[in-house]
Amino acid sequence: MNDERVLCVSEEPDLGIALVRLARSIVGVEAGRVFAVVLPGSAPDVIERIAAGGADGIHVLEGAASSDPHVVAEALSALVSDLAPTLILMGSTKRGRELAGRLAGTLDLPATTGVTGLRLEADGIRIDREALSGNAVAVERIVRRPAIVAVMSGVDAPPASPPASTERSSHPMPATVPLTERTEARPKAGGQLEIEKAERIVTIGRGLQKKEDLSIVEALAKALRAEVGCTRPLAAEAGWLTDDHWIGLTGHRVHPKLYVAVGVSGAVQHLVGMRSSRVVVAINKDPNAPIFAQADYRVTGDLYQVVPALTKALGG
Ligand SMILES: Cc1cc2nc3c(=O)[nH]c(=O)nc-3n(C[C@H](O)[C@H](O)[C@H](O)COP(=O)(O)OP(=O)(O)OC[C@H]3O[C@@H](n4cnc5c(N)ncnc54)[C@H](O)[C@@H]3O)c2cc1C
Repeated sequence: MNDERVLCVSEEPDLGIALVRLARSIVGVEAGRVFAVVLPGSAPDVIERIAAGGADGIHVLEGAASSDPHVVAEALSALVSDLAPTLILMGSTKRGRELAGRLAGTLDLPATTGVTGLRLEADGIRIDREALSGNAVAVERIVRRPAIVAVMSGVDAPPASPPASTERSSHPMPATVPLTERTEARPKAGGQLEIEKAERIVTIGRGLQKKEDLSIVEALAKALRAEVGCTRPLAAEAGWLTDDHWIGLTGHRVHPKLYVAVGVSGAVQHLVGMRSSRVVVAINKDPNAPIFAQADYRVTGDLYQVVPALTKALGG
């Protein structure tokens, strides 16, 4: 696959860097070329981090940052014409999915979103996508190249040795008239926690009997230097925690190194949000709770006894 040319773009820096690493792992270290686009408004260290991730070329778009996918798609169209990529990797974020659709329409390219794995094959690109609310995997083949593939966050590849040199170039944002414009940016009512970025999470579910008992779980989280997450009922119905703690299909999708589920039954809508956690510990008094099927460590017992004992054992 020596002639592979992969263009990576995401408005989220960490995801953009993960895409570059993924691209590098797909095309190999010697073969193929990996390009990354840095969007206006990105932090100054992003360029260096992308270079370290294994990009051969970094294209910095300069000008005013735009939240309008029409404007960004115009800028990307010009780069796609210049670079002639065989594959365009994007982040399957809300913004990334809009952009993928817009770019696909502009350039008449195939596009897929929600991708959790991909492999280049002689007759196309084989992809894994989330299906049935993340409860199944659909395996599909893109039969026409170049193609746009929007990848879910959490998909990463091992770091590759960076190329001997990384070319850098700047490009002005086009003077495209936006189709939409932001009139106001308000802080989220639900709080400012970015639970997607947490490396350790202790999640509480309806096993907790009253709001005052949250302190039991918060003490365990503190001992583990973890963030506190929750199931939907605790945020949406009880209002014990703000929406930024809510994990699952309609909440946040997380991929921490450690996920401790306390009094959580393991409904599919919750599992979708935490399934890619590396190590899962579940504490539940019901030995048949579905969460146990996802867990690496299972503790069958009353959380009111198990959690304080665990916190104490951890020195909390
Ligand atoms: C369209 C849709 C979207 C949804 N999106 C989400 C979502 O994003 N996130 C989400 O979480 N849910 C979501 N849900 C809700 C989901 O279906 C479940 O209802 C919810 O996840 C259950 O939360 P829970 O595990 O806290 O509560 P429950 O299912 O009531 O489970 C409580 C658990 O606590 C255990 N328990 C009770 N007492 C103790 C004790 N003393 N010690 C130890 N264990 C104890 C019980 O055995 C039980 O397993 C969605 C539902 C729908 C229909």
